[in-house]
Amino acid sequence: MSLIITSPLRGWASALDQVPDPVFAQRMMGDGVAIEPLGDTVVAPCDGEVTTLHDSGHAVALRSPEGAELLIHIGLDTVTLKGKGFEPLVKAGDRVARGDPLIRFDMDAVALAAPSLITPVIVTNAEAFTIVKRTIDAAVGACEALMTLAPVVADARRRSDDGTLVEQAVTLSLPHGIHARPAARIGEAARGFEADVHLLFGEKRGDARSTVALLALGTRFGDEVTVQARGDDAEAALAAIVALLGSDMGEGAPVAPAPAAAPAAALAEGQIGGVIAAPGLAMGPAARLQRAEIAVAREGTGAVEERAALIAARNEVRGRIAARAESAGGSVAAVMAAHLALLDDPELLAGAERRIAEGASAGFAWRGAVHDQIDALRATGNAHLIERIDDLVDIERQLLLALSGVPAEADAIRAGSILVADDLLPSQLVTLAASGLAGVALVCGGPTSHVAILCAGMGLPALVAMGEALDGVADGATLLLDAEAGHVTVDPDAEAATIFAARVAARDARRAAAQAAAADACHSADGTRIEVFANIGTVENAVLAAAQGAEGSGLVRSEFLFLGRDSAPSEEEQLAAYQGIADALAGKPVIVRLLDIGGDKPAAYIPFAAEENPALGQRGIRVGLAHPGLLETQLRAILRVQPVGQCRIMVPMVASVAELVAVRATVERLRSETGIAEAVAVGAMVETPAAAMTADLLAAEADFLSIGTNDLTQYVLAMDRGNPAVAAGVDALHPAVLRMIGETCRLAATRGTWVGVCGGLASDPAALPILVGLGVTEISAVPGFVAEAKAIVRGVTIEAARGHAARALACTSAAEVRALARQFGGVAA
Ligand code: PEP
Ligand code: MG
Repeated sequence: MSLIITSPLRGWASALDQVPDPVFAQRMMGDGVAIEPLGDTVVAPCDGEVTTLHDSGHAVALRSPEGAELLIHIGLDTVTLKGKGFEPLVKAGDRVARGDPLIRFDMDAVALAAPSLITPVIVTNAEAFTIVKRTIDAAVGACEALMTLAPVVADARRRSDDGTLVEQAVTLSLPHGIHARPAARIGEAARGFEADVHLLFGEKRGDARSTVALLALGTRFGDEVTVQARGDDAEAALAAIVALLGSDMGEGAPVAPAPAAAPAAALAEGQIGGVIAAPGLAMGPAARLQRAEIAVAREGTGAVEERAALIAARNEVRGRIAARAESAGGSVAAVMAAHLALLDDPELLAGAERRIAEGASAGFAWRGAVHDQIDALRATGNAHLIERIDDLVDIERQLLLALSGVPAEADAIRAGSILVADDLLPSQLVTLAASGLAGVALVCGGPTSHVAILCAGMGLPALVAMGEALDGVADGATLLLDAEAGHVTVDPDAEAATIFAARVAARDARRAAAQAAAADACHSADGTRIEVFANIGTVENAVLAAAQGAEGSGLVRSEFLFLGRDSAPSEEEQLAAYQGIADALAGKPVIVRLLDIGGDKPAAYIPFAAEENPALGQRGIRVGLAHPGLLETQLRAILRVQPVGQCRIMVPMVASVAELVAVRATVERLRSETGIAEAVAVGAMVETPAAAMTADLLAAEADFLSIGTNDLTQYVLAMDRGNPAVAAGVDALHPAVLRMIGETCRLAATRGTWVGVCGGLASDPAALPILVGLGVTEISAVPGFVAEAKAIVRGVTIEAARGHAARALACTSAAEVRALARQFGGVAA
């Protein structure tokens, strides 16, 4: 359990090393942070009891209810002032609450009489608490987070006497916690150092070189883990691993898994429902895949032989995986890299070695070692990590096959078949896909498993979690795999097969036509201009978006510049990034969203007090307004992009008009300071019910509104967008969300302000006619969907879309809306 210590003063926080007094700089009294005061009242940095208030009033000590002991020492050598200029407001023994005034002091008088006003805030009982996070080199306000303390649990958490053990806490930015791919990268980084590196999470401790040990920590996004390094290059190792853990390792922001599609449409006879793991349509014969058990002898023929056999088998499998990774690239290569790391995992190898030394065969030893780790993963209870068990089973199977001499390529399938299996291992999928697989239907599996990720990457339609009903499907049965509606039709009659084949053909033709017309401006069928933009994060995205026909960017997620680093990007760095995006979009509008950080997107260098409910806490523009320096630097960078005005400014997570007004006022001040004559558009995101319901008031102050349906949905439905337990319910087509969108458009229209959508709903084909019907005139979708979005919009008239939207608003559930969308002019089918 960590303890937040807030700043007792407004001022500038720096490391104790900056204090020109060895007693503090060398931490003789303990570790802490120093503050150059800008305010004259010292307030309590936590709840607690005043244990000492020095007679001269220049220093106060407190003990928190958790037992942390803190000393606040105002200025240096101030004891010599004998109380002059200090006014104690409490006495020893008083109980205080965080923020209660403790001492007021005369800044001018003390500054004149003492060598320095710098005020160390020290944790004096280092044996009981360690500082795991601190704010330094930054402005802090009184009561803003200054330090996070963690109790010293075991000797392992203490800095060793010879100073070679170093540690640091870090909040995980990985959207799915440390799963196989990040674990493999952490292991790879750790192996580059001599130092032993461990990760601590709660009571668990894992070797950073061991993928399985890292998986078994059971971490999730936002968890705080402590990294410990011991050895000659411990500092460098610590810095490298902390930097990795603090980044998203290229995994992007957390997204809710694809909603289960099964409830969206009632199943007809002969249909089996499932969860969409990768969207698409496929028809073909079922190819059942049975995974044969591999028998292994328990007893070995001697440790030397068994060790040699294990080494040879690992080498064989390693070669095969490396070859696959090289020829595939993309997500396949990433999964293969994770498998390579498992093959060399020190904990698996140690487990196997121990068993071999006890007389087991290489196969038996490997199987035992793998199953220990499978049990550990299962024990975490974390659904996402449990999905990673497949990777361990895969590596177990590949090695056992290599030991037994059975060729792994035994899994072959007729081209055009739809694979039907209980479960599928990533390596099997890669092998089978090469023989021309058309689709995948699995009894088990999860939508975020590696198999699902691989299928999506290969464009292979896949349904998972179909249940035992799939067991009844015979080998060779004709299947219609509908991974858009979420079901398989078994042995369809001729009519159903013809209709499905026509759908597949129409989809292919639609895609080709959409691609051909991607570059043309988008109008509805009756000529209303609907802009189709793309959401982007990087220059590469912008280039891709432009190639797909994006008419601009409706959402530049500027946080990509801010996450996964130790300090905020400079104005120049930001300017270069925004200019690059603007150039890639060649004069087309670029809507830069101001830093949207906090909640599900923490940044290590912006101090956030622990929040019980981060989604309802310091998020979006609340952070920008609380850190005006950050906000102004970003605004200056945006204003400097040439040509002026190409970049528009969008304010995230607005809950009240005052926030927008404050940003607009800052923009105007910066414009006049920098002599920019051209107007620069400022708009607000509608992500809170408050913003939706006051859209007319916001519209009066904004140049445009853009609806962030991801957040709007979570706040309207009171369902956490990152919580898999409610993921199936987080559907932005819920009529309550649609009504909010409709109301936003209606209210904004009273002020003549246009409304766009930049949340995930803009990339949902089922949603586009409804959005247009509700009055949305700008759609900002993922780059790969831009051409298709344009084609869908071109296929509807505003009148038809309005009628359709009105019917959607009257539906009772998202499932009903989806069913309605499927019937609408065939556009979303
Ligand atoms: C949204 O909330 O819909 C949105 C576009 O912002 P993000 O997904 O980045 O929170
Ligand atoms: Mg959002």
